[in-house]
Amino acid sequence: MEQIKTKTDIVSLSLEELRDRFAGLGEPRFRADQTYRWLHVQCAASFADMTNLPKTLREKLDNDFAIFSCAIEKKLVSCYDGTVKYLFRLHDGEFVETVVMRYKYGLSVCVSSQVGCNMGCAFCASAIGGCVRDLSASEILWQVYAAGLDLGERISHIVMMGMGEPLVNYDNALRFIRLISDPNGQNIGVRNISLSTCGIVPKIYALTQTGLPVTLSISLHAPNDEIRGKLMPVNKRWGIDELLAAVKDHTEKTGRRVSFEYTLIRGVNDSEENARELAARLRGMLCHVNLIPVNQVTETGLSAAQEQDVRRFTAVLERFHINVTVRRTLGSDINASCGQLRKNRKESNS
Ligand code: SAH
Repeated sequence: MEQIKTKTDIVSLSLEELRDRFAGLGEPRFRADQTYRWLHVQCAASFADMTNLPKTLREKLDNDFAIFSCAIEKKLVSCYDGTVKYLFRLHDGEFVETVVMRYKYGLSVCVSSQVGCNMGCAFCASAIGGCVRDLSASEILWQVYAAGLDLGERISHIVMMGMGEPLVNYDNALRFIRLISDPNGQNIGVRNISLSTCGIVPKIYALTQTGLPVTLSISLHAPNDEIRGKLMPVNKRWGIDELLAAVKDHTEKTGRRVSFEYTLIRGVNDSEENARELAARLRGMLCHVNLIPVNQVTETGLSAAQEQDVRRFTAVLERFHINVTVRRTLGSDINASCGQLRKNRKESNS
């Protein structure tokens, strides 16, 4: 174990960084390029597989570098819609969840960015138990690689909407986006990547500053600070006005539409008045609202809005010309909402 810690996490390195490291080892540039292809196109989990590299080089790499791949601990396939949910085991024995959704336009992978989460949202299963640690860029990448290898299909879209808060693990999240979109690797267009945040305002500005055309999703879940503060502790640090100012800055600078996630919770944020207030706040913004009937997590004591209340909420937003959709619930038979598998595993072990 000690040995592994001293090795460099090779999958997190960019091609440029890998070339520099190879130059330091006295290896030519084309060897770095070959290795990068093995790591990010073939998704090799061991240096021994890299058969077009000289054996001595493979041994040298094995001494200095580690490939932090992940293993399938559990795999569930929804019999309704083909959604696949993985529980992956990481090199240190921690677990993360990853979901693959099938759409007409291709396969979309929902990746986790942390083991657990510290944001403490009242409705969320990942919040129970807090954040154990950040994931490295390679551990986020490998969720995509392992799913692609297992399914034998090309992944075309990414949503950073699994366990954890990507903007708290900002550097690794950004490194992941650059690596997964690299034309020398998986080449998934940045425009096909969505990043969802509970609203870490300074990092939203920072992300906008990078100029990367990712689709930004904001977990809003409430029309005012009073309700949002009760559901999402992050709102006490940055209130809705500050959050919406950062979102406006993003839409103005990138010209891209932002998505607001709004989980409808019975008797908490699903009234007609709540819908009106939300519409007034979002009026004129380049945005889209995604309504999600809350997934029941037993511990939270919160339940999903009733169908007629979802319809009423949608109708109010439409009346105010706000783009709105009700999210299709995929994989409802396999506990596909974040954090539930990992949580259940911990419980069954204790
Ligand atoms: N931390 C990020 C990404 C992870 S959560 C964020 O907050 O956006 C991904 C999405 O699932 C968020 O919109 C989150 O609010 C939502 N979510 C979490 N628990 C849920 C539940 N029980 N039912 C419905 N949506 C939930």
